[in-house]
Amino acid sequence: MKCDVCIIGAGPAGLFAGIIVAKRGGKVIILEHNAAACQKLLHTGGGRCNLTHSGSVNDFVRAFGPFGRFLKHSLYEFSADDLIDYFNQMGLPTVVQEDGCVFPESQRAGDVANIMINHARQSDVQIIYNTQIQSIKKESENFNLDLLNNQIQSKSLIVATGGVSWPFTGSTGDGYKYAKNFGHSIVTPKAALVSLRIEEKWLCNLSGVGLENVVIKGRAGKNKFNCSGPLMFTSKGISGPVTLDLSRYVTDLLPDYNNPAKVVIDLLPDHEISDLEYNIMDMCQKHPKKELASLLAKYLPRSLLFSICGQISPGESIFAGILKKDQRKQLTSMLKQLPISIVATDSIDGATVTRGGVSTKEINPQSMESNLCPGLFFAGEVMNVDGPCGGYNLQIAFSTGNLAAVNAL
Ligand SMILES: Cc1cc2nc3c(=O)[nH]c(=O)nc-3n(C[C@H](O)[C@H](O)[C@H](O)COP(=O)(O)OP(=O)(O)OC[C@H]3O[C@@H](n4cnc5c(N)ncnc54)[C@H](O)[C@@H]3O)c2cc1C
Repeated sequence: MKCDVCIIGAGPAGLFAGIIVAKRGGKVIILEHNAAACQKLLHTGGGRCNLTHSGSVNDFVRAFGPFGRFLKHSLYEFSADDLIDYFNQMGLPTVVQEDGCVFPESQRAGDVANIMINHARQSDVQIIYNTQIQSIKKESENFNLDLLNNQIQSKSLIVATGGVSWPFTGSTGDGYKYAKNFGHSIVTPKAALVSLRIEEKWLCNLSGVGLENVVIKGRAGKNKFNCSGPLMFTSKGISGPVTLDLSRYVTDLLPDYNNPAKVVIDLLPDHEISDLEYNIMDMCQKHPKKELASLLAKYLPRSLLFSICGQISPGESIFAGILKKDQRKQLTSMLKQLPISIVATDSIDGATVTRGGVSTKEINPQSMESNLCPGLFFAGEVMNVDGPCGGYNLQIAFSTGNLAAVNAL
């Protein structure tokens, strides 16, 4: 079979790239090793699919941090507004939450996938499912792909195979192998947007305790970071939205059990440290017979307060009236700057995205074409790009899928 563009992977990046190639009049074949397209997409946003984020291209570039520069052109060519327009025009209304996250109005990821699968079908995009690629070679101007029972010849090839997280959805890292065959380097894949393991066992005993809003600060090399949002303690460490964002900053430093990443948690970001200390002193004077943890329960869950008090005075209850000045200072400091040591991320299999992949140094940001092999393109999470929570990673898939498609034809 011959085509203008062959795409490996029918996730959001590959499927959308296929739609764009077909819309521009190209013959396109997508090879997918699963029995269906967009298997990971169905799990996104807890099944609701946070498909993008509201904001300008510059907001996106900032949110992507070190990857912003590489992604900028693709975002200009296909922005969050373009993505929202596309789905709205295809009959899928969207809603923007207060926090800027964009979801389908139906709150169903399946609707997002179906819109694209139907659009691909109507546009004569050929998708070959359950396919196993045996080899890929570039001979003269064409790519020749050997499948088990078939051969494909294409002028361009787009690799859109995703990362290695959630491998049961199909992203098994094959794209790295294909990229390496054409001389590309792979930045070691690491887990990102993932729960973190910490050293402090006394906090792990609080598994299941959640906090509505904390701020976590730290430093990775020269760069300071600051993340905020809900936090949950787990039996191995911390989880919840703030942790997922934090994981993007620390994943490159981990695992390092001898040299953990040190961060501090502000458990009460809405309270100034001086006001807090004064309030604690005042409450203790007014209620000297009350147990300290119970007295402070208006601020934080009692179980967390008991554990913190246990750190200040191991093995015994602290009553408000006997709290010494240095203990009060220590308590306030733990509430505002609780130090924790992050030793590892949870497994990459369970991570929301993969940090690492095909090095962007070898990909032209104006086209997504390989600098090493003309006609070879990359799109989506297979590349060393990742974004924070909030719809940014799907936007990467769509924007780079679009740019690769436009240039591959
Ligand atoms: C639980 C979860 C929730 C998420 N929620 C969100 C969210 O709400 N918002 C957001 O922006 N991002 C979210 N993400 C991230 C987002 O899903 C990914 O970044 C996005 O799916 C990447 O798209 P992709 O097309 O590059 O790769 P994928 O979606 O991984 O698709 C790659 C495709 O390639 C196929 N493939 C791989 N190798 C081969 C091969 N050798 N031959 C043929 N086919 C192959 C795979 O089967 C798959 O269909 C979430 C991720 C997870 C795991």
